Amino acid sequence: MVDLRALDLRPGEVRRVALDIPQPPLWMGGQEYVVEPPAPSTELELQGVPGGVYLKLRFAADVSGPCFRCLDDAAVHVCVDASEYHEPAGGEELHSDYVEGDDLDVEAWARDALVFALPPKILCRPECAGLCPRCGERLEEGVEHRCGEEETDPRWDKLRSWRESGV
Ligand SMILES: [Zn+2]
Ligand SMILES: [Zn+2]
Repeated sequence: MVDLRALDLRPGEVRRVALDIPQPPLWMGGQEYVVEPPAPSTELELQGVPGGVYLKLRFAADVSGPCFRCLDDAAVHVCVDASEYHEPAGGEELHSDYVEGDDLDVEAWARDALVFALPPKILCRPECAGLCPRCGERLEEGVEHRCGEEETDPRWDKLRSWRESGV
């Protein structure tokens, strides 16, 4: 929590506050995604305007966990750059969801901003084709996957020909 009143911002005044905000692991699709560093150094910028305050939040972190398609290790670098506006005497639409009275819930804001900044899918590599839903084998783009057909290993062919020739 950051007490906005204690900062006593005058219009035109800009304050920057450096915070290490903990980001516990995220759970998506029943899988755990770890945030690195676990408490990214976050810059909160507050700019006073007549009757209100502009708020900006910036930090960067790596989020890693299983690939959405193949469950291999995957990681994304996320740059968060979020902004809010709050006007205490303004209407509901001018109230930030993260301000209650004089308190800015910067932890909740940072958490939401991290989730919002994530790509729709976390993949091991952009072209990951995932796993075959029938046999679980890794699929490769541009490589024909023959599924359900009996695999013939050339070593078995050799063994069979030996048997047949009676050696
Ligand atoms: Zn993958
Ligand atoms: Zn298959």
